Amino acid sequence: VSSHGCRRLLGPQLRDLLIQKHCVLFDCDGVIWNGEKAVAGAPEVVGLLKKRGKRVFFVTNNCTRPRESYVQKFSRLGFKDVVQSEILSSAYCSAVYLRDVAKVQGKVYVIGCDGVHKELREAGVPFVEGETDVPGATIFDCPLDSDVRAVLVGYDDKVNFLKLAKACCYLRNPDCLFLATDRDPWHPLPRGRVTPGSGSLVVALETASERKATVIGKPSRFMFECIASQFGVDPARSVMVGDRLETDILFGSRCGLDTVLTLSGVSTLEQAQGYRDGRTTDKAICVPDYVVDTVADFLPALAR
Ligand code: PLP
Ligand code: CA
Repeated sequence: VSSHGCRRLLGPQLRDLLIQKHCVLFDCDGVIWNGEKAVAGAPEVVGLLKKRGKRVFFVTNNCTRPRESYVQKFSRLGFKDVVQSEILSSAYCSAVYLRDVAKVQGKVYVIGCDGVHKELREAGVPFVEGETDVPGATIFDCPLDSDVRAVLVGYDDKVNFLKLAKACCYLRNPDCLFLATDRDPWHPLPRGRVTPGSGSLVVALETASERKATVIGKPSRFMFECIASQFGVDPARSVMVGDRLETDILFGSRCGLDTVLTLSGVSTLEQAQGYRDGRTTDKAICVPDYVVDTVADFLPALAR
């Protein structure tokens, strides 16, 4: 049992931490905004960090939008001067992975939405979209494309049985890559509703194909590798701020970053302390170094 982690960060300690760090990575939903509403103080925090010479990046598992539409969202919610190169989404990074790492010679079969399609198009990765639902159609009515060499699955609010069935057919070929944008289980919506996340579809395909997907988004390290290789960022001088222990905090820890949990999103202080004080060690890596109520707690530390 360790009492390490979950330290409350207040003005002076936060100031000390920020002096040591050169780069701040923010998760988006639950940290700097909730849906279409900016978290109070978040635009000021981002602006002040940049003014103090810090590098700021945004790492989101939300694959539904292309990066250019995030640029617009930042601007709409009052964040000034956030540029496309500071935004890393699981859709964009999936396209980078397919183009630069997997170098797939052939097409990608996509279960996903617009964000994924646009990023693949932009990266020049050939793909085919999953079937639209045709009442009464069966898997025998859908020809298979012999050029498909990868299946990419992500959040898809128009998912249907045929799309899953066709992906399973492609995945029978052991040379067909199996990628997932992320494994997020669900997301909070306004008025107490939730939406199933990409992870729910990934697990369906893993079950049916008896294979494991390669995950691109958090908590996989790939998003940080994209930042580090492009901008020469040092993990020891970087900090990850997120609201989900199994996604953001695990991501930060795996990449060697200090981690801050904000209590403005999904995970609670009780969960974090439970992982810290629990007798099982497998969740120890999800324990944040620090905890704040919201990113607005950064404001006093950034005041001059
Ligand atoms: N994926 C989808 C479809 C979402 O709606 C959300 C949050 O709203 C996320 C992922 C998580 O995004 P983030 O990583 O910014 O918390
Ligand atoms: Ca989040």
